[in-house]
Amino acid sequence: MSFNNIVGNEKVKTFLNKAISENHILHSYLFSGIEGIGKTLFAREFARKLLCLEKEENENCLSCQKYHNHNHPDFYEIEPENNSIKIEQIRQMQEKILEKPITSTKKVYLIIDSDAMTKEAQNCLLKTLEEPPEYATIILTTANESKLLNTIKSRCIKVSFEPIEETKIEEYLKEQMQIELAEKLISKSEGSISKAIKLQEEKEIYEEVDELIEKIGKQDKITALKQAKILYEQKEKIQEILEYINVVLYHTKEKWNCIQYVEQTKKRLLASSNYDMCIDYLVMNMWEEMNEKYSRSSI
Ligand SMILES: [Zn+2]
Repeated sequence: MSFNNIVGNEKVKTFLNKAISENHILHSYLFSGIEGIGKTLFAREFARKLLCLEKEENENCLSCQKYHNHNHPDFYEIEPENNSIKIEQIRQMQEKILEKPITSTKKVYLIIDSDAMTKEAQNCLLKTLEEPPEYATIILTTANESKLLNTIKSRCIKVSFEPIEETKIEEYLKEQMQIELAEKLISKSEGSISKAIKLQEEKEIYEEVDELIEKIGKQDKITALKQAKILYEQKEKIQEILEYINVVLYHTKEKWNCIQYVEQTKKRLLASSNYDMCIDYLVMNMWEEMNEKYSRSSI
């Protein structure tokens, strides 16, 4: 694996490669950007390169071998346990970080989803960020930068990750995973590969929603409500589905007016109104909007 095998974020690749070739490695980095755009993949690959004992890209050195076998003594990953990173995890890291590297000349710590650190954990980490051992590099990843203390952020060099272009997501899914994703689902993935894969897994739900919107104006009210079964069933995912409905409506210009009802329904649901009534409201209003349109256009 090298950066070249990771999709998107060319600027980040250039920045990290330059840091390595010029041997200008800092003590702490903050990899920031939305979920599913490769922050952790980049961080792991950056770590491997920092630990590597050779300049060549053949990944045959002892360090790379250990790294690939997941038993590198100078590389540590810390991630949330039960949704948070606790002070004990940071304390453990602080003890370990003082021991000199064994295989490589450096030690790399990767804190995944670092915003899950409790306040205490963040304050504790601060001490290490202020005075890291000379051989240590700490990489933090986050999709919620605002949850990190300013004092933490100011100690790190921020590396910003951009959403991946739609064409690249499409290409990646096709070539690496043999997945053909519908155009609408790709635009709903918001530049995130992991989101695109999730959407693919839920493809059937979205196909049913497509059919609902396609047919809603062409049938009577009762049938429309029956067809909307999927909306009543998918309570857990309803906000995502409503977002999707907006994308579909947006793509079919004659149905634009319905977007207002989707927006109202989103708000009603968040205000925890009666679930079924919210969906009734949405389906009925969309039905009326479309039927009005059909009767208008047939005059
Ligand atoms: Zn190596």
